[in-house]
Amino acid sequence: MALLEVDSIDVSYGNVQVLWDVSLSVERGETVALLGANGAGKTTTLKTICGDLQPTAGEVRFNGENIGRMPHEEVVEMGVAHVPEGREIFTDSSIRENLELGAYIDRSGMDERLETVYEIFPRLEERASQRAGTLSGGEQQMLAIGRGLMSDPDLLLLDEASLGLAPVLVDDVFEAIERINENGTTVLLVEQDIYNALRVADRGYVIKTGQVTLSGTSAELAEDERVEESYLGA
Ligand code: ATP
Repeated sequence: MALLEVDSIDVSYGNVQVLWDVSLSVERGETVALLGANGAGKTTTLKTICGDLQPTAGEVRFNGENIGRMPHEEVVEMGVAHVPEGREIFTDSSIRENLELGAYIDRSGMDERLETVYEIFPRLEERASQRAGTLSGGEQQMLAIGRGLMSDPDLLLLDEASLGLAPVLVDDVFEAIERINENGTTVLLVEQDIYNALRVADRGYVIKTGQVTLSGTSAELAEDERVEESYLGA
């Protein structure tokens, strides 16, 4: 049984349907990339998995349990963490306080988890007591990912983790994603950066105007010109 199974979901905003019959699965231990143009429906898919949106049809199963109608907090409790696009960190709070907020569901074992996050992102430890607003864009992104890890998730959902970062920081973020996965966390990432996404992912899905149009191993998708074409028109 896959860790995550998205099974034929339809999702709408009000009466505007944006996802049609979307299915994908993520096996425990994998990194899977969800690719596609602006507006294709990637963020909507992640929001549905993490309980921010509910499908009008289909199921989202995590560890075999249907989580498609569960509120976000319960989904986090089940072991899913979502790092949304745009970071959403608290700039007036310290870096450590931001990280601690990520452990709000279960504070036991928090020091251990802080240590793991600091191992992956040493710069966060060096600056733990500084205001998060003093961090650079790339460091804020790392803080957002670190906060996601503080709930000790089995599955980490990353939405455009590299967006808007300088190339050198993009490399750092993807390196961190690889390390997070090596530490045993399963990762589903949404990316516009096809090259790096397929470099770190085992498999990928391409979504176009709300439907999955292609899927395969990263090696297969990297060779397939339809992947890039799908970015040309949403
Ligand atoms: P991006 O990278 O731009 O976030 P995406 O692939 O993640 O793109 P979504 O954000 O999931 O795409 O958007 C899918 C569709 O749903 C788009 O047509 C978008 O305009 C629409 N949409 C997104 N959010 C809302 C909302 N809150 N209300 C109505 N429509 C929305």
